[in-house]
Amino acid sequence: MSGMPPRTSNEEYARIVRQGYRNLLRSLPKPLSDEDRRMIRDALDLAAEAHRHQVRMTGEPYITHPIAVAQICAEEIGLGPTAVACALLHDVVEDTSVSLEMIRERFGERVALIVEGLTKLDEEKDDKYAGERQAINLTHVMRAMLVDVRVILIKMADRLHNLRTIKGMPPEKQQRIVIETDSIYTPLAHRLGLYNIKTEFQDIYLKIIHPEKYREIADKLAQTKRSREQYIRDFIRPIEEALHKQLKGIKFRILGRPKSIYSIWNKMCQKEVAFEDIYDLFAIRIILDVPFEEERMACWMVYAIVTSIYQNIPARQKDWITTPKANGYESLHTSVIGPGGKYVEVQIRTERMNDIAERGYAAHWKYKGLKLLNRNENTFEKWFDRIREVLENNTASAKEIMVAFEDEILEEEVHVLTPKGESRFLKEGATALDFAFDIHSDIGCTCRIIRVNGAVVPFNYVLKNGDQVSVETDKNARPTPDWLKYVTTSKAKNRIRAALKKERFKMAADGLEILERKVQRLFNCSAEPYVEALAKWYGFDQRLEFLVAIALQQVDLLRLKEIRLENGKIEPIVQLNASPDAQKPQEPTTTVKPNAAPTDIIINDEPGHLYSYVLASCCTPLPGDAIFAYITSRENVAKIHRESCPNATYLKRNYSYRIFPARWGNVAQFHFVAAIAVKGIDQGPGTIQRLSDHISSMGINIRSFSIAGDRGYFSGRIELIVASNAQLQQVTKEIRKLKFVTSVERIE
Ligand code: MN
Repeated sequence: MSGMPPRTSNEEYARIVRQGYRNLLRSLPKPLSDEDRRMIRDALDLAAEAHRHQVRMTGEPYITHPIAVAQICAEEIGLGPTAVACALLHDVVEDTSVSLEMIRERFGERVALIVEGLTKLDEEKDDKYAGERQAINLTHVMRAMLVDVRVILIKMADRLHNLRTIKGMPPEKQQRIVIETDSIYTPLAHRLGLYNIKTEFQDIYLKIIHPEKYREIADKLAQTKRSREQYIRDFIRPIEEALHKQLKGIKFRILGRPKSIYSIWNKMCQKEVAFEDIYDLFAIRIILDVPFEEERMACWMVYAIVTSIYQNIPARQKDWITTPKANGYESLHTSVIGPGGKYVEVQIRTERMNDIAERGYAAHWKYKGLKLLNRNENTFEKWFDRIREVLENNTASAKEIMVAFEDEILEEEVHVLTPKGESRFLKEGATALDFAFDIHSDIGCTCRIIRVNGAVVPFNYVLKNGDQVSVETDKNARPTPDWLKYVTTSKAKNRIRAALKKERFKMAADGLEILERKVQRLFNCSAEPYVEALAKWYGFDQRLEFLVAIALQQVDLLRLKEIRLENGKIEPIVQLNASPDAQKPQEPTTTVKPNAAPTDIIINDEPGHLYSYVLASCCTPLPGDAIFAYITSRENVAKIHRESCPNATYLKRNYSYRIFPARWGNVAQFHFVAAIAVKGIDQGPGTIQRLSDHISSMGINIRSFSIAGDRGYFSGRIELIVASNAQLQQVTKEIRKLKFVTSVERIE
């Protein structure tokens, strides 16, 4: 929106507000108290006044947005009057002169609390910090959600309306919004049980990101609509008759509906099939109207009736009635073979279950007195506990919290049991070692043997639903850096990292002791005042790394004889070797390990080996290159990219909260493969030999050499093993000096 003059006349504006008010009252459950009615009217008046001169990107008066968001809250999520009032006010504090204090005075503490949670902390103006702010704002929303779950529900309604009106935005912003929606809001909608909203998020994502695919599927669905509807009618008829006969008075309704465009697309991609080859385009839903106590019996009876008419596919049967999903979803699913051999999914549930499935469990939770009816409250509470745990990790930055969120809070869950039969939910893909840390970090840190269903499994065993897991500990056991590869949850990772760090501090203390002894002997003084200077002299960035390296006997302390320690300063004895660069290992290529991942990258100011990381293959960074780390969501590793990587802009724009600063540490002992393209004039036999001899004479190893000649010219690709970017530049400079070489370039 902007401060443009109102395009809408006062009369027209008043009409929009009046109409909005009437629709809202109509969508709220009756009876509505006078007090609630007044609160909504008040909130609407305040919002209408505050947003009077603002216009949306779509050209409409801004007030249409809060009204629509409130309408979604009431109608599509099933929220009550307080949430509706908050939705009307959700943008006033951020965008207008209305203050939180004013809201607190007029509407009370609860409304102010929710509106505060919905107010962005910071305007996202500057692209450079957009990711950081987005992360900070989202953690702010999450914190507020723990205080009142309605904050996140209103936020979902806000996002939904913004997506419904996304066409008013510039294309690049559209993309950014749908990508963000896809990575955070869609899984969140799933987790909150807002199935309809989730489906709409997915469909809009597809429409923006793959418009042609979306069109294609929508067109085909439209073309086949009539025949599909006929098919469903024929399919349902015998079921309907049987239910009437056998259910004896239980009320029911049957819905037949096509699957969402997104889910069809997803199926086409996953199974690599054409639209025409997807058989289960439709699902039917049988919804029963029975009292709570009779729900299970009635659902299974319907199941028996349906599967006696149509052949059942046992592998597709899913019973979320006995064990509801962690997000509260309850339903009995199966697929059967309908006429013509087509698969049809059948969903059996009650009106209560359907209401929860459509409008979200969270909306009912606590606010609708559903407590009694709810077998599942415990798991929802547990989910909130996990969110609380992630948020309360005080050392984590907003960005790290976001990553933890995406990687586990929003993931599907796996349900496992302790030896005592107690349920625990971990994120899908969690390992046996994750389980140990989930029970308690002490158990994780001293874990020695893990058994699943009685059998010993490796630490990285991926848990499956229903696994019973037991852990044997040994008080002498310690985490090793390898453990980081065996776990997937951020809780376990953080604990292992903390333990390794502690271990490093211990090693550093050992290193200091060794150094102290040596310095005492050589110079008869304390090492302490010289530690930083010595670290630098040896080529280390940090004191800690230096001391740890000493403990690991990776530092040649005999070289201390080359210097004098005086007045807190290091004085070189031999002037020639003074510069630390000249002191670095002399034979760089004797112990070459091509592509060996160096352990000396510093990520987020921590030693790189505390993360599992790899050098990105798209830009193959070399020491000396400016770099950053991108924490991937699927593999859960840090990928190191060059700042100049072609993918950098895209990653930073869309996933900036996953980007962490990185730099090269002490990498003298490591070597990298760099490829260069050399072109030149072919001076007959021996040209290539001279080129390779020239490279070798510089002490550089060649890993591969391929060359092609054509009419007096040659062009070749040479893979070199080098220690740093500086060394590579040195080599290319030298090659360029050869008369017959016309160009040398590094291949990206
Ligand atoms: Mn809004």
